[in-house]
Amino acid sequence: MMLIHCPHCDEKRPEVEFAYAGEAHIVRPNAEQQQAMSDAKWSEFLFIRDNVRGEHCERWWHANGCNMFFNAVRNTVTDKFIKTYKIGQKRPTQAQIQKWKSAK
Ligand SMILES: [Zn+2]
Repeated sequence: MMLIHCPHCDEKRPEVEFAYAGEAHIVRPNAEQQQAMSDAKWSEFLFIRDNVRGEHCERWWHANGCNMFFNAVRNTVTDKFIKTYKIGQKRPTQAQIQKWKSAK
């Protein structure tokens, strides 16, 4: 069984406690921006997501634990978590991701 580090609990917990919650770092347009958007742009915001092969920034939910959301960098090919971090922290750069990978 895979263990996932929750940055809120600060411990590794079994994967069955977690749920994938979509791509990370998607910022919802404010009401004024939404009014100015075309239907095509709004549809793109709602439904179009990256489909990365490799390291991907994702949102995860510790549904059967502390009930908090957090972000993670996960390799979509190997299913390995490279790093988890709290929401509000900036999207990691490729250099940071490479550094985290080499530290493991
Ligand atoms: Zn937790």
